[in-house]
Amino acid sequence: MQTPDYQRLDRAHHLHPFTDFKALGEEGSRIIERGEGVYIIDSEGNRILDGMAGLWCVNLGYGREELVEAAAAQMRQLPYYNNFFKTTHPPAVKLAETLCRLAPGHLNRVFFTGSGSEANDTVLRMVRRYWALKGQPEKQWVIGRENAYHGSTVAGLSLGGMAPMHAQGGPLVPKIAHVRQPWWFGEGRSEGQDPEAFGRDCAAALEAKILELGEENVAAFIAEPVQGAGGAIIPPASYWPAVKAVLAKYDILLVADEVICGFGRLGEWFGSVHYGLEPDLMPIAKGLSSGYLPIGGVLVGDRVADTLIEEGGEFFHGFTYSGHPTCAAVALKNLELMEAEGVVERVRDDLGPYLAQRWQALGAHPLVGEARSLGLIGALELIDPATGERFDESLAVGNLCRDLCFASGLVMRSVGDTMIISPPLVITHAEIDELVDKARAALDATLARLAD
Ligand code: PLP
Repeated sequence: MQTPDYQRLDRAHHLHPFTDFKALGEEGSRIIERGEGVYIIDSEGNRILDGMAGLWCVNLGYGREELVEAAAAQMRQLPYYNNFFKTTHPPAVKLAETLCRLAPGHLNRVFFTGSGSEANDTVLRMVRRYWALKGQPEKQWVIGRENAYHGSTVAGLSLGGMAPMHAQGGPLVPKIAHVRQPWWFGEGRSEGQDPEAFGRDCAAALEAKILELGEENVAAFIAEPVQGAGGAIIPPASYWPAVKAVLAKYDILLVADEVICGFGRLGEWFGSVHYGLEPDLMPIAKGLSSGYLPIGGVLVGDRVADTLIEEGGEFFHGFTYSGHPTCAAVALKNLELMEAEGVVERVRDDLGPYLAQRWQALGAHPLVGEARSLGLIGALELIDPATGERFDESLAVGNLCRDLCFASGLVMRSVGDTMIISPPLVITHAEIDELVDKARAALDATLARLAD
């Protein structure tokens, strides 16, 4: 089949996620056929640098034969079995042990899921159950953050704070509230605050919400160490210490959603380590298998796990594919390769600093109000050079820039007018140079289009 055939059939039969089908236009979907290292190759033979590692997940890059072999070997041995009713299998056990070894010391157990969304559904049930077992069943409220993404299941989107999703989600899961995100460029700057004061203010907003709901009613706070899909929001240094203090003051559980930040993205195995957090629960997915097969889970701290086990009896919860043996075998091999190749340390000591130096130079571009990065996640905030302020949303300048980027051979994501990158963790210096050069070319092209 040729590209137009795929596009025609795609349009006729395929409802894909987060896509406005009416707006798809004549050109149709791009058909991606292959991947090699940090590149994807489309059905027209174009080689495109994948600055997003798929959906923030292909951490080891495309085409790793070792992962293919691990899947094939496990499929021959035992393609599927479950972990229900007192059975398990070697890949799930080995993966659980490896994860707990890599995670901060108090996280000694893992509950497997098939995805990050399922992990967050699991989180919601676990935190409410934990407090019920502790004799405080009124502790049911969970506080998340505006514009956060925690998945597309009903619990995931309720925990998340994306207004367009809430508007379409029907009745949301009750007793979930949201507080502001620590997005200094978008919010604190316009309020005339310096970043550190703004970070403390965001923590104060959390405390105010806890008091509004009644401290005796709040079970947990859920947040990503760096908010990913909400705009690659790297919080001011004051934010996490202040939030930690608030949670400790009211004895509220911390859920660090590590679906994006986990597995090296911020230069540590988990983003929580970078920020010195000690989360009670850590949902994980994506980079766990470098996206080669779907798998997720929740790392559970001793405090919650001991209560669930000692006082809880059977937890009526689980998925057919919880700890799927083939997915677990691939995840295990992925972690083994990451350890053997020192991927996480390289992000922290070499690639992260190199990207920061090259990426932050884009801050001088007239269209850029702020360029930030941490490890291998980065963002550019687009501004109108004439005013120094953000563009009117209706102009959709971010989407224009994203499309021009793709046309020039780079995948960059737009969240409003925030341009985001999150490339594979095996990217080289030369490929970082290429990424930055293509991003700059796309900014130039966007500027030229705006002047038309
Ligand atoms: N949590 C975060 C922080 C995410 O970024 C995502 C997906 O992008 C999810 C949860 C949901 O994961 P999944 O798409 O595997 O269900």
